[in-house]
Order: sequence, then C-alpha cells, then structure tokens
Amino acid sequence: MSPQHDPAGQALARRFEAAFMPNYGVPPVALARGEGTRVWDVDGHEYLDMIGGIAVSSLGHAHPALVEAVSRQVATLAHTSNLFLHEPEVLLAERLLGLLGAPARVFLSNSGTEANEAALKLALKYGGSTGRPRFVAAENGFHGRTLGALSLTGKRSIRDQFGPFPIDVTFVPYGDADALKSAVDDRCAAVFLEPTQGEAGVVPPPEGYLRAARDVCDATGALLVADEIQSAIGRTGHWFAHQHEGVLPDVLTLAKGLGGGLPIGACIGLGEAGTLFAKGDHGSTFGGNPVAAAAALAVLDTIDRDGLLEHVRAVGAELSGGIAAIEHPLLAGVRGRGLWLAIVLTADRAAAVQAAAQRAGFLVNALQPDAVRLAPPLVITSADVAAFTAALPAILDGASDDR
Ligand SMILES: *Cc1c(COP(=O)(O)O)cnc(C)c1O
Repeated sequence: MSPQHDPAGQALARRFEAAFMPNYGVPPVALARGEGTRVWDVDGHEYLDMIGGIAVSSLGHAHPALVEAVSRQVATLAHTSNLFLHEPEVLLAERLLGLLGAPARVFLSNSGTEANEAALKLALKYGGSTGRPRFVAAENGFHGRTLGALSLTGKRSIRDQFGPFPIDVTFVPYGDADALKSAVDDRCAAVFLEPTQGEAGVVPPPEGYLRAARDVCDATGALLVADEIQSAIGRTGHWFAHQHEGVLPDVLTLAKGLGGGLPIGACIGLGEAGTLFAKGDHGSTFGGNPVAAAAALAVLDTIDRDGLLEHVRAVGAELSGGIAAIEHPLLAGVRGRGLWLAIVLTADRAAAVQAAAQRAGFLVNALQPDAVRLAPPLVITSADVAAFTAALPAILDGASDDR
C-alpha cells in the first residue's frame, strides 16, 4: 500500500485542503520528523530525503550543530529588530564577506524573494541616478513570487496573470551570449541571472556564458546580479556557483541553503553596489534575526569544519555517475553539478517518477514534466547515494507502467 493512503497522512491532508488556499495543491506526504538524510511521515514511513526541502536542508535534519546554535540563541535573545544590532548578524555578514573575498556589504532578509527585492531596489536606485530604466533577465528564469522578483521571473505561466509590472524587463534565451549582448545597452540598469537555472530544470549555462555576461555589463555599465538563492552555499561543490567560471557579480543574492532550514536570505553588493543604499532606503523587521543568523553561522562553520565542499564534489560525482550508468528507456540522462541534479527523462513522466520514488522510500521532486530534481542534504553519504542509484531502475520501471 502506498504511504499516501495511510490514515494519519490522509486525515492531515484533508484538513490541509480545508484550511489552506489552494496555491500548493495538497502535497503528497505529511512529514513528522527527520534525522540526518532521513525523514519520517506521520504514518511512520521512512524516506531518504533526496530533495532537502528544495536545496535548503544543507546539513540534513536535526544536525547537532544547527540544533545547538538555534537552541542557544533562542534561549538567549530571539529578536532585536533593526533598531538594535547584535553579534550573530555581524559575525554572519563578516563571514559572508570573507567567503566572497572581495570588498562588499550585506543586507539580510528572510527569504529569497526578499533578497531579490533588495537587489532590484539597489538596481532601481542605480538606474535612477544614471538614466537606466531597463532590465534584462532570462526566459524561464525564476527569481521569486513577490511582485518585484516576479516581474524579473521569465516563466510566463507564473508571471503573466499578475502583470503588467511597473518595470521594463527584456527576457533573453538563457545561455545565448549573443542574445544577451544585443539586449544589454547603456540604458540597462541590471542583468538578473541564475548561474545555473534552478526551477527551469537545473540547467547549467554553456561554458563562458557568465564571463560573457560580466563582459557586456562591464562594457555598458549595467550591474550583474547573480541570483544564487538555490545554487550557493556548497550546493554545486563550491561556496558559490559563479566560482565555477571565476566571475564576480556586482550583486549576489542568497537564501535557501544558507540557514539550513531557518528562514534567512542575503543581498550582497560588491564594490560600489554595496554602498548604493542610503540610511532609510530599505529595511526588514525580521531580516538578520539572531536565531536565523546563528543558524546560518552554524551551517557555514559545519561546511568548513567537515570539508563538505569537497564531499559534495565527490559524492555528487558518484550520484551523477551512478545515474548516467543506468540504461533505461525512460532515462535520457542527468545534468547539473555537485549535489544539484536533474534526472532527464525521455517522456513527460516526472510526476510518475516522483510517485514511484516515494513508494520506494525516496523523496524527489518532479520539477518539469520531463525532469526530476535532486538536491539532497550536503551530508548525504556514499551509501545513501548507492541506495538511491540501486533503486532507480525499478523506480523508472514503476513510473513507466503506472499510467
Ligand atoms: C527559491 C528561489 C527564489 C525565491 O526564494 P523564496 O525563498 O522562495 O522567496 C529566487 N530565486 C531562485 C533562483 C530560487 O531558487
């Protein structure tokens, strides 16, 4: 019997459906707890978590370092507002600047979309002072759901019904350096790009694309905004995905993996972009909250101390290599870097693969009709990876039958 037919999960799903707006539909599993790379649903079924709450649970579940840092901070001082400063936020900002290794300044938010709102306001301020009313972003790109970030989001199905938007955005095909070059001119305030597109299907750009973006921004004076909300904090085996091409953006946005499950985001302005906001230009009551900042510090410390960047590269190669070695009529291949991969299918069966994986005890995400996303905790072991790749052929069989 499949887990979703068990009583506790079913009862909770009915109450969810009655109490919540229908924007998420009803998710297929009701989770109760987690430990390391495992989670359990309310009926007691165990799953290997291959999606990590959408690339968020960097350290897995209930990691002692995160539990300790958050517990200590919440028992000491949970909130200050931005009327007062506190040590965890200062340590975190300094830590992020250290990782970037370039002069920069930080703004802390609570989510990804808010980090991008801050980046957009920075770019609007820059554009206003330099006569640049235009923006450029990528088709199928994803930058968030609030109206500013949504207006930069290239996925028409989630954008169009909420427009028109008050900013002028030109969308270009992702990965096409020539299209980018012809779209960016000296009336462009900023180019918003994901160093690898996440929601579009974990799509890395062709070699040299970020360099080309950097060059056209340098030539025209537009700001290059790298949305690393999903791609940073070790996900691809580096702190930041832009490091794969050695290209520094002017503005960098972070969120998902940074807090390891606690809500936090960051907008980092490099060089002059770090000093565009004047006092009063932007703010957030919860942004840089001491508990979230303590969580992020624990995540960064643990990645460092436990050598997780190297681990992600090694275990990520095992995962992508293990998938690539499978021959199955439904499997077209695998793309992505580190522990951020898409299993690409030969047919639009991703939802069936997600369901079959769930029945087999694995949580994955049907990201596109023909692409299944994997973004497991960075602490996933070789044994976990081997268990998943060993189970995958039967999961693909199950997804092929189940029509
Ligand atoms: C998830 C995501 C966002 C939005 O983050 P939220 O925390 O959901 O607001 C923005 N950009 C990218 C690239 C993302 O993956």
